Amino acid sequence: MTSTVVVLDAARPEGALVDPAVPLVRIDDQGLTRGDGVFETMRAVDGRVQKFEAHYQRLTASARLAQLPVPDAAVYRAAAGLALAHAAPGGEGGLGAEHSVKIVVSRGTPEDGPWSWIAVTPVPESTFRQRREGVDAVLLPRGHDPAQDAGYPWLLPGAKTLSYAVNMAALRHARSLGADEAVFTAEDRRVLEGATSSVICARVREGARTLVTPEPSHGILPGTTQAKIFAAARRDGWELGYGPLYPADLMTADAVWLVSSVRLAVPVRRLDAQPLPVDPQLTRLVTAWVTGDAPAS
Ligand code: PLP
Repeated sequence: MTSTVVVLDAARPEGALVDPAVPLVRIDDQGLTRGDGVFETMRAVDGRVQKFEAHYQRLTASARLAQLPVPDAAVYRAAAGLALAHAAPGGEGGLGAEHSVKIVVSRGTPEDGPWSWIAVTPVPESTFRQRREGVDAVLLPRGHDPAQDAGYPWLLPGAKTLSYAVNMAALRHARSLGADEAVFTAEDRRVLEGATSSVICARVREGARTLVTPEPSHGILPGTTQAKIFAAARRDGWELGYGPLYPADLMTADAVWLVSSVRLAVPVRRLDAQPLPVDPQLTRLVTAWVTGDAPAS
């Protein structure tokens, strides 16, 4: 196992390194038995966690909805630093030594209550290959519009919970169809989000350059990567749009990406088996926006 793990619980409130090869989670832990918990996956470069504040804010928002306590930001920062300092060398994809840094907060057991852990893992070559080569995606109906959940806090709208069984099933279904990724659509065919990513497309028409993403506050996960890309694009003079996006909009876009913290911006080269334009120069620009060293466009 190449993960390095720091546990934060009542006995180790500041976090302590543990051996990931020994049992760490009790069999009646509700994170395990019910998917009852919240998490964040962050990217670290050369030992430094990227956009920590945005992730911590979303983690605390998820935890508030799920009524889970979360340690202070400074505690998590130090715990992530401890895990990174002891981690296996980061993956090398041309942007520095990269690790994924996953924070999990579990409901724990009825006796011991909530606890959390941080797992640090080198970014695998498969992620770098997707950044370079892109992916094939299929559109899969979500069954209902998640915007309808917004008024019901018990449906945990917009929370990043551990209950990802549906997202993983969607990915398996996509793979059974010969694709790599799944993109959810609402009943009216509106594009929502990837199984583990946000969707962004670019339109360059008669000198106007626009990035469009589905409205992040309508029941889908508000992506930290999408938010960072949009903030940088705005600074560079791009127009921004917040949907609605339909399949035809993606089919006629100048480029479509699935974006998330560790994958960065992965071009979609086929959607429902139809080829989409891939623009390596635009992908470099979007990647530079998210990694924070964008040249002026
Ligand atoms: N949407 C879903 C469903 C996700 O699982 C993720 C990331 O895991 C994202 C969007 C992208 O979020 P971020 O850019 O903050 O990593």
